[in-house]
Amino acid sequence: MGFREIFFIALLMLEPLAHADTLADVMDPSTYIPRSDATLNIALVDYGQEHTHEDLLRIKTLLEKRFFQATDSMIKLNVAITTNIPYRSLISSHPEYQLPNITDPARLQRLWYYDFVNENIMQEIYDVVKTSLSIGPSLAGLDAVATITGAQFDGLGFADGRIAVTESPREIAWALPDGGTTEIVSDGSVVDELIHEIGHTLFLGHTSTQCQKPGMTYEETKLCCAASDARDDVMSYCRDRKKVNDTDFFFGFKDCQLRNIKNLVIPAMLSGGGWMIQNREICN
Ligand SMILES: [Zn+2]
Repeated sequence: MGFREIFFIALLMLEPLAHADTLADVMDPSTYIPRSDATLNIALVDYGQEHTHEDLLRIKTLLEKRFFQATDSMIKLNVAITTNIPYRSLISSHPEYQLPNITDPARLQRLWYYDFVNENIMQEIYDVVKTSLSIGPSLAGLDAVATITGAQFDGLGFADGRIAVTESPREIAWALPDGGTTEIVSDGSVVDELIHEIGHTLFLGHTSTQCQKPGMTYEETKLCCAASDARDDVMSYCRDRKKVNDTDFFFGFKDCQLRNIKNLVIPAMLSGGGWMIQNREICN
């Protein structure tokens, strides 16, 4: 390796420092903002105004409480901003959009998002939040944006970079001849999904992935989950979401994932280190 190559590698290594980015610049800032204690600062957004501000404040209280307990009291979640933001695209501007057996404009609004935006919802939310008066000016100081939205997509929740989203309410089986139903999601279930997605915004992956291999039968998955140490981790698809309630039962991070949080995530948060934590323990 000659001098030129060494010089070039040195330049590449310097680059993350030279381009310290925040959530105000990109959806996936490459480093944490340094801090003196392990507090995670987020905004909680109702995108689409399907909930009242009182709903949002109630969810905030439960989310803060359960996230702290979920991390074995290691990370304090501070919901610094709660805000209700209207959809950017309104069904009233799309009178041509129709679905058989569905006439309720509120349902058509949610399903329009399924057909025309779907998983791009995270980019849309990021763009909208950036220019919103309630969050935009504070975005550079936040670690993540957690969102509940009536906009429908494939899956119950998603995270991309530091933007997390879960559906509430949920449209069920709308293509059936009876038009299906709208499911109101309980606070406990919304919070369960948000803890999972905020976990992704900490660069934590799924646990028990050995039980989700393509081609596995329902029986095989069930047996695999029963034998998985991490089956009840909030990042596991093995967890029985139906057990979650609003009063006392919820899923948290289990031993293996708690070690990733303690040994990798929190040190990165405190030092302003890299967001894409390296050498995560695989939690089976
Ligand atoms: Zn996930």
